[in-house]
Amino acid sequence: MRGVTVKRFFIGIDLGGTSMKIGLVSDQGKVIRETEKPTLKEEGADGVIDRMVSHARNLAKEACVPWQEIQGVGVGLPGFLDIPGGVVKYMTNLGWTDIPIRDRLQSAWQVPVKIDNDANVAALGEVWSGAGNGEKNAICITLGTGVGGGIIAEGELLHGAKGFAGEIGHIQVEPEGALCNCGQTGCLETVSSATGMVRLVHHAVSVGEKTCLAPYVRDGSLSTRHIFAEAKRGDAVARKTVDQAVHALAQVMATLSVVLNPSLFIIGGGVSQAGESLLNPLRKKYQCLAQKNARQDVRIVLAQLGNRAGFIGAAGLLAHIQK
Ligand SMILES: [Zn+2]
Repeated sequence: MRGVTVKRFFIGIDLGGTSMKIGLVSDQGKVIRETEKPTLKEEGADGVIDRMVSHARNLAKEACVPWQEIQGVGVGLPGFLDIPGGVVKYMTNLGWTDIPIRDRLQSAWQVPVKIDNDANVAALGEVWSGAGNGEKNAICITLGTGVGGGIIAEGELLHGAKGFAGEIGHIQVEPEGALCNCGQTGCLETVSSATGMVRLVHHAVSVGEKTCLAPYVRDGSLSTRHIFAEAKRGDAVARKTVDQAVHALAQVMATLSVVLNPSLFIIGGGVSQAGESLLNPLRKKYQCLAQKNARQDVRIVLAQLGNRAGFIGAAGLLAHIQK
């Protein structure tokens, strides 16, 4: 710590189904120390919460920061939450229902605690200390198994009436399209997520289209890495799949631009590992589809923090309100 003039410390926790990532973060959004521990969800909410409490305390101790200097703890959670009430309504992958997690953590730690959903904290992390560079109006889109989103509008995370704001993956792009996990058809995530792109290739093969991707379809190993690689080599099915994913995403970004007028889109998640092979066509398509005033000076960039965005942004929930 010598030579570093940090005055305020925050802890962020990103709780997932298999592991929890915990970080001690400065008021500038810099990670001072971090750790990852198994969630052990089979121990139930009580066991998991107890271990969150002790792991966070141990992390501060390892960094030689007295607990009294921790200004607050933020927690990102993958589930349906009552954010103002600090309650997990339900969290499918941990099997939790109606857990008043904020109050329980607050009484154990004796510091302010805030909770938010995992996509929102990841967006806040990127905007605070990653690709966002402190932008006041930014939209973060995570292309993974599904499509997640988080919206920062005029410097604040946007939640909406029931905390559903930012669920960009469930904007309908193809009314006659595939059934989504949410019950609607043709959501963005049925086309532009990794799962969606793989599904499109499987469909093409099943109707007899010729593609170099067929062996991966047959052995079940097809990934977006294969799809982007073959698209680059000119495979027609791979190209069509990338085009369709990019078109749907650009269409949604164009709509969001008119509604929210962001200056920045941050694209993250596994699919974004394609890098410029994704961003180049996406930028071009967005320029074609977005309204000319709304698209002016809008930047589209890759996320920078990877899977650390969640705990950094969770810490930011507290740092943010104290600015
Ligand atoms: Zn959906």
